[in-house]
This record gives sequence, structure tokens and C-alpha cells, in this order.
Amino acid sequence: MTTLPASTQLAGWRHIYSGKVRDLYTPADGSAAHLLVVASNRVSAFDHVLEPPIPGKGALLTALSNWWFSRIDLANHLVADAAEAPAVPDEVADRAMLTRKLEMHPIECVVRGALTGSGFAEYQRTGAVCGIELPEGLSDGDLLDEPIYTPAYKAPLGEHDENITFERSVELVGAEVASALRDASLQIFTAARELAAARGVVLADTKFEFGRDPGTGELVLADEVLTSDSSRYWDASVYHDTTLPRKDRLASFDKQIVRNWLSEHWDGAGEPPVLPEAIVAQTYERYRELYVRLTGGEPPYSPVAV
Ligand code: ATP
Ligand code: MG
Repeated sequence: MTTLPASTQLAGWRHIYSGKVRDLYTPADGSAAHLLVVASNRVSAFDHVLEPPIPGKGALLTALSNWWFSRIDLANHLVADAAEAPAVPDEVADRAMLTRKLEMHPIECVVRGALTGSGFAEYQRTGAVCGIELPEGLSDGDLLDEPIYTPAYKAPLGEHDENITFERSVELVGAEVASALRDASLQIFTAARELAAARGVVLADTKFEFGRDPGTGELVLADEVLTSDSSRYWDASVYHDTTLPRKDRLASFDKQIVRNWLSEHWDGAGEPPVLPEAIVAQTYERYRELYVRLTGGEPPYSPVAV
């Protein structure tokens, strides 16, 4: 067995999985009730995890998720009473979410209030996104009259997620759950978009994940929620300034800086180059700016690079 890096060893917890950005743990005593989701400072772009990490990013995204959870009117997976679970180790406290372990629905519940990214690409090819026909003549970044629900099948490890129609989601999880996922996603998105707009930020699109509480059967909002890793946010004043080039208007509050730098300094072959210090600092600043805009407060800062 290979030895895990020190960063994935936590007292009282067993490491079970690392995605590109997050590390998951279950209690070392074998209990299946809890899941510790630790957001690292890793940053990925073009399907590569880059070096170095962005100090403070994990704490910032965790704080942003928590802030949104407290404003969303639906059961979520955060565990308030931690008495039953192992203690959350200090070294990850500001990057960790202690959650109840759910049976996850294999659907990425994407909601789009604007047409861009992979949705725009699909529209250009077919005139529709996930089976939803859209008016002709839309341009990249155009706001939609009504937000649309465009689910994706969450493919097993190592495979790519795949956009699906609502009807396909019914086949996958049943009519009742599929409708509940769609309705909850649209409702949360609509409320969040309004809140963001009041703070000068356009919520263009986002992705939610939901699970079923194995004890009660209830539908529960899980994963990270409305962070800059799971959502596309634009600065409203920049977005609405039509004198600017479209590409600048659609600069999102996330790792766009990293993507732009990589596009200019890497041809996509082999390992990506190490990010310069200035790019690391600018990227953190961009994440931080969104947090401050939305919440009106300063984010926690974690100098621990993981
Ligand atoms: P990627 O690196 O592309 O994001 P990923 O989605 O598999 O891959 P992560 O997002 O790091 O990796 O991992 C989070 C995983 O934990 C997801 O598979 C998500 O569905 C799952 N998850 C989130 N919350 C819960 C929960 N409360 N109970 C069970 N599983 C959960
Ligand atoms: Mg994920």
C-alpha cells in the first residue's frame, strides 16, 4: 500500500477519497453516519491539479459554503451537534465540513441563469441545452428570461460527467426524486441570484448535489454550495458595461486568472508549469473579493498550504 501524504492523515478519521480539490474522511471507528469533507488549497484547471496551492483558498470556500447553507431554506448536510462524531482535528478545522453521510443522488443539479460555457457550446451545436429548446440568436453570456435546470449524470470515478435531459434523470432516480431535485435547485438558485444581485454580483450558473438521509429518507442539500468552484459569478457592473469586450465582461470570480495564465504559458502537453507567486496572490484575491462582496465580511485566513 502506498503511504498517503501527511496532509491526508487525520487523527480519528480514515481517508477514503481525494477529488481534485477535496479530501473525504469517515470515522476511523467504522461508523457510517458521518463524513468529513476537507477543502484543500489545491487549485485545478484544464483537469490538472496545479502547483503551488493557493494558501487560504480552502478556508475561504468552506466559509462561503457555510454562509450560503445558513441562508438556504432546505435541510442541509452540516452536523450541528458533533457529539456523536470524532472531533474535527485543529489542523483542518477552518477547511472542514462535518456532515451526515448521505446516499448521494448521482445527478449534478446544474441551474443556468445565463448561457455560457458548456451550455453555450451545446446550444451552438443543437439550439438546446439538456433538451431545453432556447430562442435563436443568443450570444455567449446572455441572461436567460427564466433560469433553466440542466442536469448532468455524475459519472463514476474517472469518467466524465454527461449532460442529460430531465427525462433521463427520471429514469435514473425516479419521477418523484427527479422533480424534487429540479424544484429545489431552481428555488435555491432563484433566491441566491436575487441575493447576489443586491450585492452587485451576477450568479450566472451553479451546480448543487443532493442526497437522501438513510435514516429519515429526507432530501438533503449536500456537497459545497454556491462557492466560486461550483458556480460562475460575474461582477455586475463589469458584466453590464457593454463597451467592454465580451471576454472581459464574463471574467468570473474564480480561477480565471489561473486559466488565462496557463493558456499563455503552456501548450497543454505534459505537466503544467508551476504558477508564479503573483498569479497565486491574484487568484486568492479574486476569491476573497467575491466573499467580501457577498457576505460583507472578511474571510478567515489559513496560511497552511496543503
Ligand atoms: P472533482 O474533483 O471533479 O470535483 P468529485 O466530485 O468526485 O471530483 P469532490 O468534489 O472532491 O470530488 O468530492 C466530494 C464528493 O463527496 C462528491 O462525490 C460528493 O457527491 C460527495 N459528497 C458530498 N457531500 C456528501 C455527503 N453529505 N454524504 C456523502 N457524500 C457526499
Ligand atoms: Mg465535486
